[in-house]
Amino acid sequence: MKHPGMVSIIGAGPGDPELITVKAMNRLREAEVVLYDRLVSEELLAYAGPFAELVYVGKAPGRHAMPQEEIERWLIRYAMDGKRVVRLKGGDPFVFGRGGEEALALAASGIPYEVIPGITSALGAAASAGVPLTHRRAAASFACVTGNRCHGDQTPIRWDLLAHSVDTLAIYMGVSQIGAIREELLRHGKSASTPVALIERGTTCRQRTFTCTLDDMHKLAAAVKLSNPALIVVGEVVRVREQLQLFEHQAEVYYGS
Ligand code: SAH
Repeated sequence: MKHPGMVSIIGAGPGDPELITVKAMNRLREAEVVLYDRLVSEELLAYAGPFAELVYVGKAPGRHAMPQEEIERWLIRYAMDGKRVVRLKGGDPFVFGRGGEEALALAASGIPYEVIPGITSALGAAASAGVPLTHRRAAASFACVTGNRCHGDQTPIRWDLLAHSVDTLAIYMGVSQIGAIREELLRHGKSASTPVALIERGTTCRQRTFTCTLDDMHKLAAAVKLSNPALIVVGEVVRVREQLQLFEHQAEVYYGS
């Protein structure tokens, strides 16, 4: 048997290609095979070596994504073939990225691997929308929550606890469930007037950001045709964005011709 290669499970960051880490970029440059997802910036693929094999394993419009088990089999197969493999995933591989499953599959097969973190979209999108996830006097905690139970995952989402014990909620994969999320949070006593930011394609040049309240977030999402990838941020910290915008406006008035 050949000496096995190595798999680097890498976070590509939230969208803006400049938000990848130096370490991840170095691995990408050395890669012989790159298996990448839908949310990975195409621009990053240009940094892979000229002879690197690029394998798309994301979901094509109207078609299913490659099954997770198959992705894991490919990673193992390429590594067994002695290749330097990069598994490039949107955001951070260990935040709703199924990176843990891939690491487990590689470990079980005795394949050397490493995990290189990325900026998860909650951090990226919040920063580029001017919404600090924690803020003095407004939020001492935040949680990353999935708004959607997929892949047969039945881990319950404790909206009852999240509504009360976490100050800022950064909700991933929530667009299609926004009405149900609103209901859950209101039912568990979250104030209807809690500010909300809807951030679509955060950190990219196509970013759109909208603010509203928990009570009307489903209506706004429908009115603006909010689409994926988008993040829902619920919490008082959303007001900071409004304050920042006020300063921007003043600066414009001051510096404007
Ligand atoms: N591992 C990724 C998350 C994958 S789940 C990470 O760490 O970011 C996919 C969800 O991430 C999307 O449904 C959306 O809620 C969120 N997301 C990914 N990219 C985003 C972006 N540029 N702006 C806003 N949300 C994003």
